[in-house]
Amino acid sequence: MAKKWVSMRNLRFLLNEVFKVTELNQSPYFDRHNATTYKLVLEEAAKLGDKLLHPVFEDMDRKPPELVNGQVKVHPSTKKIIQEFGKNGWISSSFPEDHGGEQLPLTVANACNFIFAAANYSGSVYMGLSAGAVNLIQTFGDETLKKTYADKLIQGLWQGTMALTEPQAGSSLADITTLATPDGKGGYTLQGQKIFISAGDHDAVENVVHLVLAKIEGAPAGVKGISLFVVPKKRIDSAGELISNDVTVTQVFHKMGYRGAPITELSFGEKNDCQAFLVGEPNRGLSYMFQMMNEARLGVGLGATAIASAAYYAALEYTQSRLQGRKLSSKDPLSAQVPLIEHADVKRMLLFQRSVVEGSLSLILQCSFYEDMQHVCPAEDKERYHLLLDLLTPVAKSYPAEMGILSTSMSIQCFGGYGYCEDFPVEQHFRDMRIHTIHEGTTGIQGMDLLGRKLVMNNGKAFFLYLDEVRKTIGEARGNASLEKLAVDLEEALTNLEHVTSHLMVQAKVKGAETMLADAVLYLDMFGIVTMAWQWLAQALVVQAAMSDNLSKADNAFYQGKHYTCRYFFAYELPKIQGLAKRLTDEDPLTLDMPASCFGD
Ligand SMILES: Cc1cc2nc3c(=O)[nH]c(=O)nc-3n(C[C@H](O)[C@H](O)[C@H](O)COP(=O)(O)OP(=O)(O)OC[C@H]3O[C@@H](n4cnc5c(N)ncnc54)[C@H](O)[C@@H]3O)c2cc1C
Repeated sequence: MAKKWVSMRNLRFLLNEVFKVTELNQSPYFDRHNATTYKLVLEEAAKLGDKLLHPVFEDMDRKPPELVNGQVKVHPSTKKIIQEFGKNGWISSSFPEDHGGEQLPLTVANACNFIFAAANYSGSVYMGLSAGAVNLIQTFGDETLKKTYADKLIQGLWQGTMALTEPQAGSSLADITTLATPDGKGGYTLQGQKIFISAGDHDAVENVVHLVLAKIEGAPAGVKGISLFVVPKKRIDSAGELISNDVTVTQVFHKMGYRGAPITELSFGEKNDCQAFLVGEPNRGLSYMFQMMNEARLGVGLGATAIASAAYYAALEYTQSRLQGRKLSSKDPLSAQVPLIEHADVKRMLLFQRSVVEGSLSLILQCSFYEDMQHVCPAEDKERYHLLLDLLTPVAKSYPAEMGILSTSMSIQCFGGYGYCEDFPVEQHFRDMRIHTIHEGTTGIQGMDLLGRKLVMNNGKAFFLYLDEVRKTIGEARGNASLEKLAVDLEEALTNLEHVTSHLMVQAKVKGAETMLADAVLYLDMFGIVTMAWQWLAQALVVQAAMSDNLSKADNAFYQGKHYTCRYFFAYELPKIQGLAKRLTDEDPLTLDMPASCFGD
């Protein structure tokens, strides 16, 4: 097993030096916290990662969930993990106090979630799902729903889920058919089928609470007719007892990775006795669910970054200790072999991984910080942070997910043959990573969300705010001798992004949305790379300010390492946008033109 899966030094750097989270405490909303509480919370998270999650990282993978007599059985450690998180307030740590939380800044809470996911991704997801479900109930549910479900979910006694996907409706939620029928007593009965529902049933909790998207009989077609319901596995009867609510598990899926958490197929109302409780108003369900989906999308980016981090540290440890070959400059076959890390190409592979991990983590915390700023800023600035977060969510979901696959693959490559074998954890990291470009909306859907919705909302205001933010960082780097070139490169890249964006907007007007969106994923790639370069320049600025002759050896190596990684990103990754820009402004509608019938023999 690897000895390290996250860098606590890097987390402290991002929280304290880049985002300066303690400045949030000057606002009444966060004023019960301070630097000491943040330090303690991070240390406690690291302890939980070390002692509770990581020891069962492999075993949860090797002993996946099973469906036994209609009940999903999960790894025995799952119960202890969920209970421990519930007991110590981790599920609700960033919630407002009046929602049963600690009002911890999301930036700090997500730094902790990153530690948990890096220690054992499967083991960490149960709590995130419950947190998202409670948040939805607290925000849009009535008092009865809050009283019945919130505490049990926060305490880790019950499990929350999000139940959207159906066999015929995955990316296209407009096509769901799960039906809610008024029962004549002010409630609803539910009938339908959901697939791929994470933590949709298991024996580590006494009840499961599904947040289900369904259509009320007679509702408008498409997404305008979707409502949101709370549907418990067991409902409370008039005597206060938990009784079956006619929710059946028909299958537990056997997955490639992320095997410690069950993904289930559920059938609602086979006996016509499944009660569903409406959340908020009818037909507004998808807009409510977007709250949970946006949190979950950031969570997916965070999870992907965390897995990539664990794989990176495994590769780093291995390449530092395995002796193989000699430097090209040393021809003597009798001289000692050097560690792998001495070879330039191995350093390149490590730099790629580090740039993905630390750049992505910075972006995840940047998004969390925008959420926190909405609690502390003057009312007139709220929209600014809200729009920035909205715009960056598909990027923060997709860049870590897509690059995480390459990054964990590169980790395997650093190990050579051993990376492909179960003797080392990286093959599991690679398998655990693969889901992230699929769940919570595929990369294709994220691309269309960014280009088709986020860029044009409020007449492009979010995009202009984004340009502003990036240019602020460029402005700070200008005039600094060692950052000047990076600042110039980022300005050029940003101008290129503006140019491509304008081109696509014109395309939409002239040729229609389908043409504009045909290569939305390439646009998302380009946006992601420019955004990463921004995050790296912001880090490099802090590094420059911190460099001095009085640094400890460890700090000196840390800051130098940061600077090299930033240089790597600008030298190796940022130039990739030129190819993307070329294709995005090339008007050959190749993929639209080609008839589907031309595939095949
Ligand atoms: C491990 C796992 C956990 C999951 N957890 C949950 C959960 O907890 N709750 C839940 O509700 N769901 C969950 N899902 C479902 C997941 O969200 C869906 O699998 C995902 O949204 C994609 O839907 P689909 O599988 O039907 O693929 P499809 O929608 O069939 O997509 C297949 C491919 O076609 C592309 N595509 C689809 N439509 C378009 C289009 N209009 N334009 C261009 N390209 C398109 C997609 O990008 C994708 O590449 C989970 C899935 C997995 C595998």
